Amino acid sequence: MKQFNMVINGKPVQTSTTFEIINPATGKVFATCSSADAKIVDQAVAAAKAAFSQWSKTPIAVRKEKIHAIGAALEKNMPELMELVTKETGKPMKGLNMIGSGMEVGGAAAWTHFTAELNLPIECVQDDDNTRIELHRKPIGVVVSILPWNWPLLIATWHVMPALLAGNTVVMKPSPLTPLSTIRLVELANEILPPGVLNVVTGDNSLGATLTQHKDINKIVFTGSIATGKKIMSSASANLVRFTLELGGNDAGIVLPDVDVEKIAPALFTACFHNNGQTCACLKRLYVHESIYDKVCNALVSIAKKTKVGDGMQDVELGPIQNKMQFEKVKDFAKSVESAGGTFLCGGKPIDGEGYFFEPTIVANIKDGSKLVDEEQFGPIVPVIKYTDIADAIAKANNNPAGLGGSIWSSNLAKAKELAVQLECGSVWINEHGAIQPNMPFGGVKQSGIGIEFGQHGLEEFTTIQAIKMPKQVA
Ligand code: NAD
Repeated sequence: MKQFNMVINGKPVQTSTTFEIINPATGKVFATCSSADAKIVDQAVAAAKAAFSQWSKTPIAVRKEKIHAIGAALEKNMPELMELVTKETGKPMKGLNMIGSGMEVGGAAAWTHFTAELNLPIECVQDDDNTRIELHRKPIGVVVSILPWNWPLLIATWHVMPALLAGNTVVMKPSPLTPLSTIRLVELANEILPPGVLNVVTGDNSLGATLTQHKDINKIVFTGSIATGKKIMSSASANLVRFTLELGGNDAGIVLPDVDVEKIAPALFTACFHNNGQTCACLKRLYVHESIYDKVCNALVSIAKKTKVGDGMQDVELGPIQNKMQFEKVKDFAKSVESAGGTFLCGGKPIDGEGYFFEPTIVANIKDGSKLVDEEQFGPIVPVIKYTDIADAIAKANNNPAGLGGSIWSSNLAKAKELAVQLECGSVWINEHGAIQPNMPFGGVKQSGIGIEFGQHGLEEFTTIQAIKMPKQVA
């Protein structure tokens, strides 16, 4: 069985202590991974710190070239990376509406190239006869990147590429459930970058706390659950390091009575179920006007019943749930439905056999105040909630601690936009949901996060401003 190793200062680091990586389609171990202790964390941070002085002074044009070269390496190694992503996450190679490992690896390359084209120009805020004031964007130092298990390679590029472009160096810590594609990314990048600029350490969750409290780090970029985000914020306070937190969501979608149900149903289904609902910005609570409620429910059920679920290496649309713990959580959500008065329109139980498979599940006649509506399910079980009054639907959508994304579905675009601005969330889509792209800033409000990713705004999160005031003449 192959053992995957860490990369520190451009070199592989193998340990005799390892942990196992499970393929969720079989529930069986298919690889092992080296496991870091506090000493190895120190080595990784020291390597990044040492590399910072040169990398931060490297001209941005050179940094851009190297980031483009990493994008090209991702493209060149796409088949290998796709297989790795499918084996460790369970997501299908193609997937529902082509949202699968192909999109993960292709998206990682696309985001990398897009980020390489961004710039950090000097901004002038005053330039008169006496004075010039310039704002310079400076790199922060050693960035720690902590990753979740749902889109490990794609999110890795969201963290790393802007950090490197801005002149920082990085230590990554992937989820212990899905470290392999991140390790391959770092191995490929180290064929291009100077040693120490990009490092990866692997191990259990305790490694996250060790890294984020390290005295020599300068910024944390974290994607994961709200609960862990709160711990990271507290760790960051130890040394007052900067942080970006991209956390969980419980996105609401609101369907107005004027939609063409048959036309929007496939997009609604994809928004709820792609990657088995295990995407931060999946549609997780669907509010539908009473006049079309049955029609929408029937259309979604008919798609669910035709959806192919199976091992992601086969030609399927949905794979397994990524891990045993999440599988148990989804079962608990299903258990909660009956006492909440909900009705299973389809699904509701695990699929017999090996692996962590669960039927695509649609729940009707359920209300706010129930577990399935109020909490992030992060799995293939979606509540459809009936509403009468649009103001009430908006109020319910907003009455949640999360504020990541939301959507309005209508054939009246002006009306949809009027409602969109009333949603309390970082991104709102009209007639689609969760469609992210590298030039559209992405981030949560309320408990869904602090800070922003993508595009110029995302890049600037990896910098500090130095203001320089200078006289026009020497006195
Ligand atoms: P998680 O919070 O359990 O784990 C995320 C990472 O944090 C892992 O690498 C884990 O090892 C590490 N970690 C655990 N304890 C830590 C600690 N005390 N200090 C530092 N690091 C620690 O999240 P997950 O289950 O891997 O991912 C699912 C969650 O992520 C969902 O809530 C989902 O909505 C959210 N998510 C958000 C976004 C976004 O962009 N907003 C994207 C993807 C996933």
